[in-house]
Amino acid sequence: MTRQAVSRWENGETIPATETLKLLSKLFNVSINTLLGSPHPLYCQCCGMPLDDSIIGKNDDGSLNEEYCKWCYADGTYTYDNMDDLIDVCVPHMAKEGFSEEEARAYMKEKLPHLNYWKRHDELSDQGKFDAFKKTLIEEINGLHIEGMPPVTKLSALVGSYVNLEYPLSNGAKVKFLNDETTYLGTQLEPETDMGFCYGVVANVDFILICTYGKGGSDPKLVMYKKR
Ligand SMILES: [Zn+2]
Repeated sequence: MTRQAVSRWENGETIPATETLKLLSKLFNVSINTLLGSPHPLYCQCCGMPLDDSIIGKNDDGSLNEEYCKWCYADGTYTYDNMDDLIDVCVPHMAKEGFSEEEARAYMKEKLPHLNYWKRHDELSDQGKFDAFKKTLIEEINGLHIEGMPPVTKLSALVGSYVNLEYPLSNGAKVKFLNDETTYLGTQLEPETDMGFCYGVVANVDFILICTYGKGGSDPKLVMYKKR
């Protein structure tokens, strides 16, 4: 790309070609939609969430995939193969926004089948490969027999910045293990009797991390960090 090209573009004389837009989008982590002045609102074509540049899913090569949020599509992988699983994850969030659980469920059941991912599910699906990986991971985690921790029954996509707790070390330093930008699999588990804390599990192909924390992620303690 030449200086003249940029200045012509800035002056509105030309619109950059598609390939240039793709390059700029990847370089600056900004969607093509934003580069073009946001001509239309973007919605995740799997869960329906409105998208802004900070929550758009990424392809394998780090470029943005403007069709999906980063919970539904991470590093080139679709994280939901089953519509009911997605609904189970979304309903509690919607309940916080004033929907009753029944309303939220009915709304999602009506809305999701109209989104591109579910319309093209047969073609986009990985034939359950990702689901199989999740099952393996769940078995591995439960096989660790962490004392007091209820068994893991499902893992959901979690974005690093939401679960990247800072753990205190014995020497007073604090350490983080996750990358804010990466999407992981994880879950939160409440002990059967209220202990004032819950267990958090975060994992991916490379590692399993188990911790405990109080309300809102306070007082986090690392229970286990294991390379796979
Ligand atoms: Zn989504």
